[in-house]
Amino acid sequence: MYCKHCGTVIAEGARFCTGCGAPVESSRHSAPAPPPDRPAQHQGPPMPRTAPPAPHSQPLRRHQNAPYPPPRVVRGRVGYSPRINDPIFAKYRSRNLVWAVIFTVFMFFAAVIGFYIYGENSSDITTDEAISQGIILGLIFVAFGVGSIINRLRKRNWDGVVVNKTKKVHRDDDDDDNNATITVYIGRKTTMRYTIHFRDDRGKKRRYVFENDPVRFNYFQVGDRVRYHAKMETYEKYDKSRDTIIFCNLCRKQNDIAADTCYYCKGPLLK
Ligand SMILES: [Zn+2]
Ligand SMILES: [Zn+2]
Repeated sequence: MYCKHCGTVIAEGARFCTGCGAPVESSRHSAPAPPPDRPAQHQGPPMPRTAPPAPHSQPLRRHQNAPYPPPRVVRGRVGYSPRINDPIFAKYRSRNLVWAVIFTVFMFFAAVIGFYIYGENSSDITTDEAISQGIILGLIFVAFGVGSIINRLRKRNWDGVVVNKTKKVHRDDDDDDNNATITVYIGRKTTMRYTIHFRDDRGKKRRYVFENDPVRFNYFQVGDRVRYHAKMETYEKYDKSRDTIIFCNLCRKQNDIAADTCYYCKGPLLK
């Protein structure tokens, strides 16, 4: 059983979600709340706590006792946001590329200078040999740096649709791919790995993988149309009209749909 709010796996019979704390609606015991325009007294025998109000009482009062706040008035737009033309998005990429170049150059000189210092202080190796070894190592760093920059420049936007969503509990102690990815633990020794599967408009399969973010997982639904923004490597949903949250396309953090700019990075939200 999954939490309807955040997608966390919850134990059968649990009354509250361990992920977000929302009360668990059991499909057997509670029907969904009736829309405000329909009287509630058709709903079977009244129970002491949730007794429906008498027919003549104000229907609004029931709203205050509803388990969830009433739907928000603020809604996101339908359609991709024209705010993508804000120069901050172009700047984001060029700034990233400048930093990548600076980092690559820095790594080259760090290798050369590091080996030079080692050569000066070591009796095993002459300074000339040390410098040439430092240059070789530095060039390897440069090759990696240039490779990743080219890789980034070749990424293109695409439009697609969510075709599937999967999640997998990753237990630390039976971690077969023993790589050096940074994992954040939920509970004791598990990581939840979420994957959103897309098919782009040219038929190519795409994947968005992230960890321990059930809210982000819930944000995407099968059938949603999505645009991938290669400059920022982030995603934008076509139809935001049913959403109460929006993810910043610059820093990826979650914001309220009513916000105009990101609370965290002050960038414009694509809405
Ligand atoms: Zn939850
Ligand atoms: Zn942001």
